[in-house]
Amino acid sequence: MKILKILKILFQLLLCTLIASSCKDGERLYKKSTILMDTVVTITVSSESKENAESAIDSAFERIKEIEGLINFWSPRSEVSALNSAAGREKVKVSPVTLDMVEKALYISRKTEGGFDATIGPIIRLYDFKKKTKPSDSSIKEKLTLIGFRNVFTDKNKSTVYLGKKGMSFDTGGIAKGYAADVAVEVLKRKGIKGGIVAVSGDIKTFGLKPDGLPWLVGIKNPRPKSKDDEIMATIELQDSAISTSGDYERFFMENGRRYHHIIDPMTGIPASGCQSVSVISKEGALSDGFSTGIFVMGPERGMRLLRELGFDGIIIDTEGKIYVTEGIKDKVNWHKKP
Ligand code: ADP
Ligand code: MG
Repeated sequence: MKILKILKILFQLLLCTLIASSCKDGERLYKKSTILMDTVVTITVSSESKENAESAIDSAFERIKEIEGLINFWSPRSEVSALNSAAGREKVKVSPVTLDMVEKALYISRKTEGGFDATIGPIIRLYDFKKKTKPSDSSIKEKLTLIGFRNVFTDKNKSTVYLGKKGMSFDTGGIAKGYAADVAVEVLKRKGIKGGIVAVSGDIKTFGLKPDGLPWLVGIKNPRPKSKDDEIMATIELQDSAISTSGDYERFFMENGRRYHHIIDPMTGIPASGCQSVSVISKEGALSDGFSTGIFVMGPERGMRLLRELGFDGIIIDTEGKIYVTEGIKDKVNWHKKP
């Protein structure tokens, strides 16, 4: 956290430099980064005016900050923390944003048959990937009794959420960044921006076109790069859609040859073992984000079946490095280097 704070200050100093490049018919690219949601958020827009671009990007950052205040699992003042403290006790009235995000999380949970389950909170708190701490079997067993999205109850009319068991805890980590990309794009569009790309770490959403009239290009990370040159394994053109990647290389530590990473199988409480990386493309950042996490847990076969059923595109790399690509994007992926 301390490092992030320092980074934050450095970034805020750098923020003054709005990068502009590429020009056609007056449209240019403007790009700005900041630290929000404990990660780097970069927004790039196509605009005819530096002032409009900057003001739209700043408004989008502001909105993400507001959303973060509501849904941050780690902040004791967020609405999600209020939900968690009231678990097993009472319903909590929440803002439309929190309710919407919770409902989307529940939808993803149902579709992934519990592969995605935001009630994973009590188990997540047992791991510390920086300190390389993993829980004992008995503490996992104890906390597993608290996991279950079917114990989350929402009331749309009253805008309330209730976690049915004391000790339950709703972790937004698997969906919040994609959700933030969605709200940022809404703000940019409302501010008159015709094309842009919002990247909340690996959760990316694009809309419209680049100044050169072509779709935005998004890189997909190689889960097992052997050198600096093969960090990006592929690029893909994206138009009005979102892509999220969940990987076992983002936050992990190795112990006795085993990789302990941050995507947990809600059935067992231990890191999911079928995949190295899952990228999901859909119209909504929240869905791409949640489904990439959930499909990672489901594994390649069930995951591919679900992608087809949902009509989403995606790329799955299994533990052996075998690559699965949905039909819809087979010709659209530009492979730099297959892992
Ligand atoms: P990242 O945060 O690296 O973008 P993901 O979107 O896959 O990666 O989210 C991983 C985060 O989601 C974890 O840090 C944790 O907070 C939460 N999480 C882990 N396992 C699950 C799961 N099975 N279902 C829902 N959320 C999960
Ligand atoms: Mg995710």
